[in-house]
Amino acid sequence: MATAISVKNIRKVYPGQPPVVALADASIGIRDNEFFTLLGPSGCGKTTLLRMIAGFEQPSSGSLTMHGEDLLELPPHKRPVNTVFQSYALFPHLTVAQNIGFGLEMLGKPKSEIRTTVGEMMELVKMSQMADRQTGQISGGQQQRVALARALAPKPRVLLLDEPLSALDFKLRKDMQLELKRLQTETGITFIFVTHDQEEALTMSDRIAVMSAGEIRQVGTPREIYDHPAERFVADFIGDTNFLPADLLSVSGETAQVRLSSGREIAARTWEAGPQSGSITLAVRPEHASIGPVDEGLVTGTLGEVVYFGTDTHYHVALNDGTAFVVRLQNRPDAASSYTTGDTVGIQFGAGVGQVLRD
Ligand code: ATP
Repeated sequence: MATAISVKNIRKVYPGQPPVVALADASIGIRDNEFFTLLGPSGCGKTTLLRMIAGFEQPSSGSLTMHGEDLLELPPHKRPVNTVFQSYALFPHLTVAQNIGFGLEMLGKPKSEIRTTVGEMMELVKMSQMADRQTGQISGGQQQRVALARALAPKPRVLLLDEPLSALDFKLRKDMQLELKRLQTETGITFIFVTHDQEEALTMSDRIAVMSAGEIRQVGTPREIYDHPAERFVADFIGDTNFLPADLLSVSGETAQVRLSSGREIAARTWEAGPQSGSITLAVRPEHASIGPVDEGLVTGTLGEVVYFGTDTHYHVALNDGTAFVVRLQNRPDAASSYTTGDTVGIQFGAGVGQVLRD
């Protein structure tokens, strides 16, 4: 699919004592029709990058193009993008329909076209029943829908969403996650979504850019990012991960042969330009490992806490090399684990499950 927005070597330094490097050297390509998420901890530069695409912020250096056209040359209102803000920014005394039509009126669209588009948008976000209600008198979730409809009404090519769900309670947020994904699929508009919530990013996105300290650390589908984190920061920030010290014995393409601290060897995933030998760290997700008899274990240790979570149970193992390791097993009434605290256990995981990490 064609690259819609190309961010190349963008740097943004805010003046001050000392100056703040909000974006160090960010490059990404966002495709047409994709739900693309910028994910990272607070202060990593997500909002700065979004505001730059919107035109509210200029980079210190770098380029920003959409389908080859220089976006930096265009003032915000000339860019084919629209933004949904966290605060919604609705007019409380105007009705739902008036709020949705507001941007179209500003653009001087004919009345009949505005009426038709507002109708379509209310239908899209399921707010037709509330057309004449003032937005000051509807719920937070309904306000969110109106804000979305208003931003979609001028039919932008790209919709920018800055943590739009953070003001909603847990249940509503879950519903709106599905709703946003549906809206993106139905309209075919490219969504660029900012969040610091990894679960939200995993459930909604076609692709995710994980950011840290003004840099893009990894870009990939949720599955790629989760199953094959490229580095310790990504592995740690997204989900839970075990980190095992290991020696890299050989590499062939994306497969590495590693020796664990126990002396046992196993195949793992690596990346093309990865290390070829030496000490490395292997990431293994808790649910990708299992526990069993010591002599069958790739690594061995003593079982500590066993914590029951309803759907699964977490087994905390103190490995013989001093590393802590957690195994997460799904609970099934017909297959309860027989291991208890104090048992000596072996940990197993399959070939290709472990991921060699970048430094
Ligand atoms: P959050 O999730 O908390 O919104 P973020 O990842 O969106 O964080 P940004 O808001 O882009 O991060 O901020 C990146 C860095 O730039 C932070 O250190 C922030 O303090 C700084 N920063 C942002 N805006 C300004 C500004 N106008 N002047 C000076 N520093 C700024």
